[in-house]
Amino acid sequence: MRRWARAVLALLSCLMLLTGCASQESEPGATAAPEGLAERTSGVGFYFDTVVTVTLYGAPEGLMAQIWTACERYENLLSKTVEGSDVQRVNASHGEPVTVDPETWWILQRAKEINRLTGGAFSVTIAPLSSQWDFTGGTNRMPTDEERLAALPLVDDEKLMLGENNTVTLPEGMEIDLGGIAKGYIADRIAALIQGKVHGATLSFGGNVYVVGLKPDGTVFNLGIQDPGGPTGTSIAVVQATDLSLVTSGIYERYFMVGDTRYHHILDPQNGLPADSDLASASILDASSMDADALATACIVVGLDRAKALLEELGRDGVFITRDGTIVTTEGFAEKYPFRTLEAS
Ligand code: ADP
Ligand code: MG
Repeated sequence: MRRWARAVLALLSCLMLLTGCASQESEPGATAAPEGLAERTSGVGFYFDTVVTVTLYGAPEGLMAQIWTACERYENLLSKTVEGSDVQRVNASHGEPVTVDPETWWILQRAKEINRLTGGAFSVTIAPLSSQWDFTGGTNRMPTDEERLAALPLVDDEKLMLGENNTVTLPEGMEIDLGGIAKGYIADRIAALIQGKVHGATLSFGGNVYVVGLKPDGTVFNLGIQDPGGPTGTSIAVVQATDLSLVTSGIYERYFMVGDTRYHHILDPQNGLPADSDLASASILDASSMDADALATACIVVGLDRAKALLEELGRDGVFITRDGTIVTTEGFAEKYPFRTLEAS
């Protein structure tokens, strides 16, 4: 998303936060919906440094409020910047064991598994490197070669120790950053919270979208895949799905330019630089938004050939868009899901 658009959305959302965390409104058309069609309720919040949009069809009273309460709780648990969050306590532990919430422990366990599956391309211990960069704050800060090389040995998920009774031990100097996986986990939890209680729903956490149930007319949802070269909201392809999450990682979301060089927020743990692969975006359609989130980030690091092979080996479904605009899917994708490409910008 372009920086100005993010700023406007962030401002809007913050105003909403002032009035109680998030807005909840009934769309004008909702009450006038033809009889038999599920009523639409929508809301927007700002959590996890992202605009969160929720649309529910046929939701019971109070469900929207429960969603925002859950977002608040996860923000307080998993954010690097919230005082007293699990992540902050682990990062300030100086090598001592820290007891975390069982949910945090479970995310870290899955993160370590995905680190192994991706040959280290996804590393939740990326923080010493990711904190050296500022992709969104406007300062365009980047590390010197010396700083970057000094941080490299601190990125090693094998050294993140998960013990009994939800303990986490991280060697001195190392830090964790759940930016590449937490939104997926939260999307999964919110989807589970509403499943069976609504006729249908779309949950959008930036690059993570979860669709539950059906649209009021009984058809499945259309999920757009962002055109990496186009304005935010322009789709390059559309896939139809239900009870699945579509997670996209891209090099166009959070970045700055210096001359012709694009510095984007997905870092290669091997050298600490923005991943220089042939991929502009990777989208994964999966029941686990958490797995899809971490895997999509890893795909950008490893590039098209390895990413496609990895997803196919794991039995996951994905759509890749290369930097030169070619759309590639995993084997059998279009046979499994109604999928069509649109004209690129
Ligand atoms: P977004 O969160 O913007 O949707 P991603 O899911 O791809 O995008 O996650 C990118 C975020 O993950 C970065 O902002 C950073 O916090 C973290 N990150 C960057 N590179 C890696 C990596 N190689 N492995 C794990 N996390 C990463
Ligand atoms: Mg991710």
